[in-house]
Amino acid sequence: MTSAGELRRRTLCSLTRPSYSVFSGDLVKLNDNANLFGVNPAALEVAETFDFARLWAYPSEDSDALRARLASELGVSSSEVIVGNGSDELLDIASKCFIDPDDVFCTPTPTFGMYAFYARVNMAAVREVPLRPDFSLDLGALLASRAKVTAICQPNNPTGNLFDAGAVEQILSESPGMVLVDEAYADFSGSSMLRTVLSRENGMDVRTFSKAYGMAGLRAGFAVARKETVDELRRVRTPFGLNSFTEAVAIGAIDNRAWVEDTVARMRIQREFLSTRMEGLGFEVLPSVCNFVTARCPVDGPWLVAKLRGRGVVVRDCSSFPLLNDHIRVTVGPRPLMERFLEAAATSIEEATP
Ligand code: PMP
Repeated sequence: MTSAGELRRRTLCSLTRPSYSVFSGDLVKLNDNANLFGVNPAALEVAETFDFARLWAYPSEDSDALRARLASELGVSSSEVIVGNGSDELLDIASKCFIDPDDVFCTPTPTFGMYAFYARVNMAAVREVPLRPDFSLDLGALLASRAKVTAICQPNNPTGNLFDAGAVEQILSESPGMVLVDEAYADFSGSSMLRTVLSRENGMDVRTFSKAYGMAGLRAGFAVARKETVDELRRVRTPFGLNSFTEAVAIGAIDNRAWVEDTVARMRIQREFLSTRMEGLGFEVLPSVCNFVTARCPVDGPWLVAKLRGRGVVVRDCSSFPLLNDHIRVTVGPRPLMERFLEAAATSIEEATP
């Protein structure tokens, strides 16, 4: 009998999916940039009136009600919106849809690791172009790759900065291929590339309900692009990708913008608090417009991550990223969580200093 490992596609042999999940009720999870200020109230509100007795039925194949609501909210047509099971699904189907084996896929680095992963699954030749030391885009090198697909995270995870909008626009206008602009954190920065992306045939603006909208557990994301692009993406998307409960909650969440705005305002206050206190402990904090803070540690980075973990606090070790040796990324949350982290960090740093 041939084993599954032997039957696996050869190109997958050296590929491991990045993993972010840490399951434990006791840990303070500051590693995945979910909304630590709580679940979107739409989840409980919808649960009260939702017709669970109808869950025997399939949902709408393309989540028509949510697409219509998003379209009216964003001032676009429903045919320019596609939804998915988290924005990860949109990134996955974009790779499936536009990458043939050996096509060049290009992305700056450091950035969100899943772009390159999906590209590699689809056998792309992946070019990762280092950011400049000030974390700006190396436009010349990105455009020189003549990539079939380019992915830009705006603002960027894990560096926390917004790229110059003009530079992103230039990539859209001069790249010969598709350009994915992932705005997962744009609700925190108050920025938007939507109009610029839609002004180009090759643009795709990817969004999520997992961050500011406080619904990571329900898995919903969407992308906005020209109708022609959305039609192509639909060819490879699984039907019924979004369950009907999640769809209803996402619609409710859009109706309650005030909750998102309030959460973002509260996050900004804690981000300021966290950054200042981390600087006091000797961290070099990168300016952030997102719901996380990335900083160079005053001690060995991976050592500190392990020490924090031992004290029940999980943060993201960024040492494997170019430019981010000895850096950690900390998700911003309510004050008690920030204090738990700061206390654990202070004790650990003290331990390291003779
Ligand atoms: N894009 C970026 C930049 C992210 O950081 C994440 C999650 N960490 C995602 C996309 C995926 O989010 P989701 O699948 O939950 O929508």
